[in-house]
Amino acid sequence: MAQARLTIDLGALCANWSALAGKSRAETGAVVKANAYGLGIDAIAPALAQAGARRFFVAVAEEGAALRRVLGPGPEINVFSGHMAGDAALIREAGLTPMINSIDQMLRHVESLPGHPFGIQLDSGMNRLGMEPAEWSALRDIALAQNPTLLMSHLACADEPTHAMNPRQLGAFRAMTDGLDVPRALSATGGILLGPEYHFDVTRPGIGLYGGLPFVDARPVVTLSIPVIQVREIEPGETVGYGNSFTAPAPMRVATIASGYADGILRAMGPNAQLWAGETRCKVLGRISMDLIGVDVTALDHEPDALELLGQHQSVDTVAEWAGTIGYEILTSLGNRYAREYVGA
Ligand SMILES: *Cc1c(COP(=O)(O)O)cnc(C)c1O
Repeated sequence: MAQARLTIDLGALCANWSALAGKSRAETGAVVKANAYGLGIDAIAPALAQAGARRFFVAVAEEGAALRRVLGPGPEINVFSGHMAGDAALIREAGLTPMINSIDQMLRHVESLPGHPFGIQLDSGMNRLGMEPAEWSALRDIALAQNPTLLMSHLACADEPTHAMNPRQLGAFRAMTDGLDVPRALSATGGILLGPEYHFDVTRPGIGLYGGLPFVDARPVVTLSIPVIQVREIEPGETVGYGNSFTAPAPMRVATIASGYADGILRAMGPNAQLWAGETRCKVLGRISMDLIGVDVTALDHEPDALELLGQHQSVDTVAEWAGTIGYEILTSLGNRYAREYVGA
């Protein structure tokens, strides 16, 4: 079998949720947008609910409806994009809680679903989603009269603890929400690690649950093992792969493994990438193809059955750095050709 195997450790996922929950006195939610960062909402969400999460966050109402089918009634599902035109039926039937982003969304919500729960998203400086301070002061009393369940904002630079943007956004959020008798949420993974003044009543970790930075103590959640299809000997001066970008300086053994950029192994990782055979590091040779990669296995005294790209030896962030990106993009790029196995539930 040449299908690569992606193993997702639900025990590590739940341990990461509990570790982040233990860092604050707030209620700890779970962000499962984008199919739980690419790892599969069908398995991830129930595991997190089992670990104790009672509040989930998704990007759009359609994701929320799919999540409700997985979780059943009970847990609160908050939708970051708020209440968009055409969402009313989904929001009502799936019992979703939209995070209202503007006066327009507020009007749409109270007109189409009067009395249906909602939260409010405020812009504290990121300029991405949420009401601006002036918009909020115009709407605030009307909105509060409708009993919003949560007031939230999002930090732009929480992965840099000393960044001046963090206290600036904290101040802006407090100026918009202090003294109002509504639960508040400001922090994702990075904000939880900034300390208690950032925690408020609810936290919204995502990447830290899935083993990524900035949660440095996260347990790795994904292991990616890629079968070796062929091993060949090459002579000095021979080349490997498209464009002849690698030329052997000496006799070498090259393993061809069964994944490529169509599986989310970004082509831009190129010559920086390496895999592991047990405790031995094996470098990628030449260009990453769509479904295949050449790897130097000269140092091995055997022909390996498979090589490991993600796991105990290297995290999604290590791999991301080779391609000049972040662990979030590696996770959400993992393709749908892998045999996915969930362990540790
Ligand atoms: C994605 C997202 C989160 C989760 O962020 P992480 O950095 O993955 O913990 C929280 N809140 C909002 C608004 C988001 O968009």
